[in-house]
Amino acid sequence: MIIGNIGKDEKRKKFTLEITCSNCKTKVPGRMQTSERHYGTASFNKEVADFKRNYLCGRCRDKKRVAGNRSPAKRQF
Ligand SMILES: [Zn+2]
Repeated sequence: MIIGNIGKDEKRKKFTLEITCSNCKTKVPGRMQTSERHYGTASFNKEVADFKRNYLCGRCRDKKRVAGNRSPAKRQF
């Protein structure tokens, strides 16, 4: 999984993040990548925080997709 944008010629920084599924609370070790330049910056930290908050494990993502197919999105806000 990639945080932020990595330019074609940019060096990549690889790191592991312990992510918790926001639905079932399963812990998943996430193998992450970002550009070396981006790593550790304030916007990087914010993106990681957002990513962790919204993360769904594979199983919950599948469930969500199935539920979505059953009732097509006709929600109005
Ligand atoms: Zn889950």
